[in-house]
Amino acid sequence: MKTSYDVLVCGAGPVGLWLACELKLARIDVAVLDRRPVRTTESRALAIHGRTLEMFGLRGCAGDFLGAGRKIPMMEYGALNTRLVFSSFESRFPFTLFLRQTRTEEFLEKRALALGVPLLRETEVTQVAENEAGVHVTTSRGPFSAPWLVGADGARSLVRHQAGIGFDGFDGRVTAMLGDVVLAKPPEGGGILSMVNARGALMMSPLGDDVHHRVIAIDAARPSVEKDTPLTVTELASAALKISGKNYEMGEASWLSRFTDATRLASAYRKGRILLAGDAAHIHAPMGGQGLNVGLQDAMNLGWKLAMVVRKQAPESLLDTYHSERRPVGQMLFDNTLAQVALATDFTPPNLSLRNTMNDVLSFPDVDLMIDTQPATLYDCMKKGEWVHIALAPEKRDDPAFPEWLKPDIVKYIRARCVGNSPSFTGIASVLIRPDGYVHSVTTA
Ligand SMILES: Cc1cc2nc3c(=O)[nH]c(=O)nc-3n(C[C@H](O)[C@H](O)[C@H](O)COP(=O)(O)OP(=O)(O)OC[C@H]3O[C@@H](n4cnc5c(N)ncnc54)[C@H](O)[C@@H]3O)c2cc1C
Repeated sequence: MKTSYDVLVCGAGPVGLWLACELKLARIDVAVLDRRPVRTTESRALAIHGRTLEMFGLRGCAGDFLGAGRKIPMMEYGALNTRLVFSSFESRFPFTLFLRQTRTEEFLEKRALALGVPLLRETEVTQVAENEAGVHVTTSRGPFSAPWLVGADGARSLVRHQAGIGFDGFDGRVTAMLGDVVLAKPPEGGGILSMVNARGALMMSPLGDDVHHRVIAIDAARPSVEKDTPLTVTELASAALKISGKNYEMGEASWLSRFTDATRLASAYRKGRILLAGDAAHIHAPMGGQGLNVGLQDAMNLGWKLAMVVRKQAPESLLDTYHSERRPVGQMLFDNTLAQVALATDFTPPNLSLRNTMNDVLSFPDVDLMIDTQPATLYDCMKKGEWVHIALAPEKRDDPAFPEWLKPDIVKYIRARCVGNSPSFTGIASVLIRPDGYVHSVTTA
């Protein structure tokens, strides 16, 4: 059995799988190790946001996800009643896609295997030792080694522990009930509901499979129970009835669980030859459906950088920019989700009044989110994960600034013109785009 690779990824969750795809696309010798014999069966993450779909679009694989999920044109914040509407985004994907994590992982695993990634299941990493040349990993299947190790091994990351990377934050203070259940009488208005009152919090939305709804409830009289206490449909249904005063006639459940608002962030995303991504680097309550999305975007940021360092096309210091670019996003995630927890889990009169005020503020049309945009044709240029230099007015201007280590011969050069009236490209002569789809530099016309 081959035991030596350029990169080892610990964890075949969505983040480890996408990272391995990015590395393999760049022809890096990568293997993924996971202790599970099969993919997760828990539906967990439901929401795939527009930015993640854009990322899939850049690699030409958004169609799989779109074909299987349900488009939701809006999202709630902190279980407020006023929705954030996505339809005004200048994006090919101005919506959130609801798709169970089991399906998301199925597509990611399929892509990884098609690219030729060795996916070694029933391989539990038990010890990690690093020296100047690389990382030695002890597993239930024997030893492995590589110059680089990425811990994409989830919230209780062994890689993070063994690397001695801090994980500061807060333990859970609130425990929510979660059920993916059949509702004979779903809430009106597309089956979506957010309600917080003195009796507790209740959120409902369709799961996207045309059968189940996701129901989340917190009972104000019992806000904190042991996370592993088994949950029944009866307990969830009675909490929903108590909070809303309505009987939704809850039936069969495909998944019942509890989650807490435990929130933590890794002190470093890189320590020597070890890097962290996804839940290994950040955990939080699933408010706004963000963990999987942010984790996949960590992987997109890290993939091309690690590939260029392995291929000696960039200095190792490029990997420090993974920490400096992605940890601030982790910090925003930390604050954003805790702020939503505060709004949704405090059942006292001052917070209920604060919620009313926030509902009013959010109903002003100018208050909404903005995300990055990509012109449609750009997607076709980014499928292989290369640097792309687009010249929109090549006769007028110099090239955009290249990093000093970037060899021009590995950059794809394209002469293009803007079709229509894209404000993003007004006055731009040329653009240098990184493999993860972010603009590195521009020159103006
Ligand atoms: C109820 C709920 C709802 C959620 N909703 C959303 C949502 O709507 N949108 C969203 O973006 N996110 C959501 N999330 C969060 C999302 O599920 C996680 O952020 C996501 O799974 C993280 O992916 P990951 O690959 O980093 O880690 P994981 O999915 O945890 O994968 C880690 C992998 O590492 C493996 N592993 C662990 N330790 C070892 C070891 N020692 N050796 C070998 N393998 C190991 C595990 O077997 C696992 O396969 C939700 C989470 C919950 C609980």
